[in-house]
Amino acid sequence: MTTDTAHLDAGDEQLVLDAIDKWLEQKVKPVAMELEHDDEYPAELVEDMKELGLFGALIAPGYGGLGLSATTYAKIVTRISEEWMSLTGIFNSHLMMARIVERYGTDTQKDYWLPRFASGELRGGLGLTEPDAGTDLQGIRTQARRVGDQYIVNGTKTWISNAIEGHCVALLVKTDPEAQPRYKGMTMLIAPKIDPETRQPLPGVRNGRKLEKLGYKGIDSGEFIFEDYACDAALSLVGGEEGQGFYMATGGLEIGRINIAARGVGIARRALRESVAYSQVRKTMGKPICEHQAIQLKLGEMAAKTRAAELLVADAASAYDRGERVDLEAGMAKYFASETAAEVAFEAMRIHGAYGYSKEYPIERLYRDAPLLCIGEGTNEMQRIIIAKQLVKRNPV
Ligand SMILES: Cc1cc2nc3c(=O)[nH]c(=O)nc-3n(C[C@H](O)[C@H](O)[C@H](O)COP(=O)(O)OP(=O)(O)OC[C@H]3O[C@@H](n4cnc5c(N)ncnc54)[C@H](O)[C@@H]3O)c2cc1C
Repeated sequence: MTTDTAHLDAGDEQLVLDAIDKWLEQKVKPVAMELEHDDEYPAELVEDMKELGLFGALIAPGYGGLGLSATTYAKIVTRISEEWMSLTGIFNSHLMMARIVERYGTDTQKDYWLPRFASGELRGGLGLTEPDAGTDLQGIRTQARRVGDQYIVNGTKTWISNAIEGHCVALLVKTDPEAQPRYKGMTMLIAPKIDPETRQPLPGVRNGRKLEKLGYKGIDSGEFIFEDYACDAALSLVGGEEGQGFYMATGGLEIGRINIAARGVGIARRALRESVAYSQVRKTMGKPICEHQAIQLKLGEMAAKTRAAELLVADAASAYDRGERVDLEAGMAKYFASETAAEVAFEAMRIHGAYGYSKEYPIERLYRDAPLLCIGEGTNEMQRIIIAKQLVKRNPV
């Protein structure tokens, strides 16, 4: 099967972006607020997303995907996040799983999983976090034991996006819990919870709670419980080799961080746009509030930070597209864009006064959605540490 990854030219990219804009205007905008407040999974929009090709956005055309560049992909994520950020989580976590198979899988695994992932027929996410291990990924306890041509898995994952509505997960496990350093005992499996052929539930895996959240509603965040769950080694053991899981998980996070940063730009842009508009119609002391210097100072800072975040995302995405290692660029984009999203959303709330606090306006949703970006795909505390380590590594004295 061909894995042609030629990227779109500017004209074709514009066609894709236009199709996304049309969908956002016609289908997403009318329902986003209600679905979000009801924390309802957007099943109809997911069907549209399949048709738009979003579940295969980064998968090579040879496997049925769109093969988009990270640059185009980031623009899509930003646009959708301006309307409703949760939708991006439904295909981004899925694409991180797909990226692991595409980058590290055997030919058999790519041929088996990628066409199913690209069509959205099988959807899923990334299963790293456990109740006692988030940042300290090497502290995970989920174990997989090789028995004949299968792996038997026991353990619990939590906070997994698409855990309930999805069908499978890229699962980080320990195959050698005694290994030192710990990462050498870590392995990546693709673990379906339904039989991909019959679509019947598989034994040994179930979802625990659906987790209640401040924001990022509509998309399910949940637990996975594995109890003597058996999966086929040839299809599930990514790359056919144990001990590579930590490397695969952290490699997948690069595109994840660009995605989080692109979401941050979307949140910030929307908050800024709403604020620029509102400040021209809301009057106090006989004039629109945009003529008060206190509001102008806010708008100026919001605009400059939003634009800076956009440029950092573009920089990280283009380095990724050139095939470079982008820990530093993606880390800076993720850190700055997510902090900007949180700040700009809060400033937008102040500018809107009581209306910013009202559930009838989008500002309170932007304000609730933004903090996740400071936590997910590596907390912003860790981002700054990663940036510093890369700086030293790239500039030895
Ligand atoms: C809505 C949502 C969706 C998510 N989706 C997924 C998903 O799909 N898949 C998945 O695997 N996970 C997912 N997560 C989990 C997320 O990746 C973790 O929450 C994140 O990695 C942080 O881990 P933790 O929550 O265990 O915090 P901890 O690791 O306990 O950290 C707590 C605090 O200590 C700080 N800290 C920890 N270690 C250090 C250190 N060495 N130096 C400095 N500071 C440190 C952290 O920055 C943080 O401030 C999701 C989380 C949320 C909220």
